[in-house]
Amino acid sequence: MKKIEKLLYYYHSFSLLKKFLLAPAIGLVLVLPFYIFAFFSMNEIKNSVKEFNTELNPLQETAFNNIFLLEKIANDMNSAVTAKEVEWIDSAESHAQKIRQNLHTFFKSDYEKDAQDALIAFNAYYETVRNVSQKIIENDNCYTNIEDDTKKVIANYNTLDSLLKNLKLKIKQDIATSVNSLYENTNFLLLNGNFIFLLWFFLSILIVLIVYRDIRYKINKIVEDSKEIARGDVDFEKRLCIVSYDEIGQIVKSINVFINKLHESHEELSEAKKELESLYITDGLTGVYNRVKIDEIIDTELKKQKRYGAICSVILIDIDLFKLVNDTHGHLAGDLILQEFAAILKSNIRDTDYVGRWGGEEFIIVSPQTDQNGALSLSEHLRSKIEDFSFTTIGKKTASFGVATCTENDDIQSLIDNADKALYRAKNNGRNQVICYSS
Ligand code: GH3
Ligand code: MG
Ligand code: MG
Repeated sequence: MKKIEKLLYYYHSFSLLKKFLLAPAIGLVLVLPFYIFAFFSMNEIKNSVKEFNTELNPLQETAFNNIFLLEKIANDMNSAVTAKEVEWIDSAESHAQKIRQNLHTFFKSDYEKDAQDALIAFNAYYETVRNVSQKIIENDNCYTNIEDDTKKVIANYNTLDSLLKNLKLKIKQDIATSVNSLYENTNFLLLNGNFIFLLWFFLSILIVLIVYRDIRYKINKIVEDSKEIARGDVDFEKRLCIVSYDEIGQIVKSINVFINKLHESHEELSEAKKELESLYITDGLTGVYNRVKIDEIIDTELKKQKRYGAICSVILIDIDLFKLVNDTHGHLAGDLILQEFAAILKSNIRDTDYVGRWGGEEFIIVSPQTDQNGALSLSEHLRSKIEDFSFTTIGKKTASFGVATCTENDDIQSLIDNADKALYRAKNNGRNQVICYSS
């Protein structure tokens, strides 16, 4: 399993060119043993041809020659006896010498034993035929054994003749076998060559097809993902999977870099959007909600009230005699007081309450799920917190509170008006107090 993974890793790190060269390369490796085998077969054929040319063929000629010479000897002896001339025996002697030489050439070959037997038989035959011929020529009247000796000559001749013919036949058979094997080897080599070609051809096609399928799969994947990007359905958490380090891998890498950049831009844009949205609903000086957001919150709460009968209260808060602060300590000191004031409100309400700057030194709290009593006690709590707080530069400062709880007939305007009326009364009553609106 690990080996396959390793092989796949190597494959994926190849360039496209190398991948396509894989086909002939693997083909070559696979057919290499056949090539080696073919090479040795070829050598064997060469050896057979060489053996045939340098050994078997000359031996065959010599074997033929021997039979021919033997016949010549017989003829010479016959002539010698008929003509009663010794010269014919000398002529036969030269042929005999030739046969002996010929038979000696076989001594270095596979036919040594046959040649030795033939030589012994030849010597025996030649000895008897020569003796008989000489005796006849010399016309020795005492030569009484002629019939027996002639029979001996014939018997020796027959033995020798059959030995020589045997030798000739053996060589002939060996030549036939050698030619046969030559033919078979050549045939096999031819078949082998065809097989090698076909194997290589089909292997190459197979590997090219596999590589092509792999490349097509990757390109299709890139096309699909590119279409997705073009449609704008980019999943920023997703990256194209890099499975190779070839040219396609490079494209995938570039697309991933592109998606990364797109992701970064998208994140920056989202951040900017969030910041803008936050700026849009936040009061720049105090950091609490501005009137835009408070309007939206009250609108939502009133809708809930109408749909579910959910109760909600608003508290308008106005800093007492704030103009004095500006007049005495300057506008900047006044700004700081506004910031400190907003911070007190923010840190003393529930998580579910909303605080905003209604305008100037007026703040507002929207308190969902809070009835008049709840809003009253919250206001009282905030009022005493402010009263107890020591503001920068100016020290003590108070605020007046106007509370209104929504009814099913209220809209934003009427609710705020009611809170404002209550606040007005708080101011008129001497400030630093909480007044609930009552019709
Ligand atoms: P009271 O409400 O108790 O009747 O007296 P007041 O002096 O607070 O009333 P008024 O509404 O007359 O004064 C509000 C002052 O708040 C007027 C303005 O100079 C000051 N003010 C409004 N907005 C800002 C602001 O953003 N910064 C500063 N420093 N002062 C502001
Ligand atoms: Mg005011
Ligand atoms: Mg005021």
